[in-house]
Amino acid sequence: MTVLFGGTFDPVHNGHVSAVRKIIDVLCPDRMIIMPARINPFKTGSVQCATALQRLEMCRLAFEGSGEVSDLEIHREGVSYTIDTLEALMACAPDEYYLAVGSDSLRSLPAWHRAEDIVRIANVVTVSRRCGEDLLPYARAIEDMGGKVTLITADPFEVSSTQLRWMLSNNEDAAGLIPDKVYDYIKKNRIYQ
Ligand code: ATP
Repeated sequence: MTVLFGGTFDPVHNGHVSAVRKIIDVLCPDRMIIMPARINPFKTGSVQCATALQRLEMCRLAFEGSGEVSDLEIHREGVSYTIDTLEALMACAPDEYYLAVGSDSLRSLPAWHRAEDIVRIANVVTVSRRCGEDLLPYARAIEDMGGKVTLITADPFEVSSTQLRWMLSNNEDAAGLIPDKVYDYIKKNRIYQ
């Protein structure tokens, strides 16, 4: 079994790290692939503060020992569509695939490019981002499209990259919210200032 966890990771934070740990605990996958996007289809208009290569490096620091960080999307021209990535991965490494998403992405998934193809070829695993969220309606929407969803709702880690970009640009202390090695890299390279 292979799990694909994609995102902008601008910056990667402990919510992402905690999500990956939980997915590994629940699914015990053979491969856990972390995929920083070159251009997120839903964030084309927004400013990405770190460069693609900095986001890739931050992911490598954050997931050392827990997942394989792939540069497939970073090196592919244009908008990073998940279906293109899944098809490319499956072509070179056929396996049972799971797509890992946070709860906000589960909600938006039906609007993704070729969403029906995504949920036909990959199962979905979702990690809650907030306590008390009701994810069942969103899971049902995916099931109505023919997909299968595994929900992981225990102990959400409530943090977002948006919150961290704001904190870092205002010199607020983000210790505990970002992996230490990533925090050192951000400070050394003066990202988000
Ligand atoms: P932004 O605030 O810039 O939108 P983000 O914190 O949502 O960023 P992304 O890189 O966009 O981070 O998210 C990548 C994936 O990780 C998405 O599927 C998202 O739902 C999930 N995710 C993000 N934060 C968490 C969290 N705290 N817990 C669980 N999943 C998360």
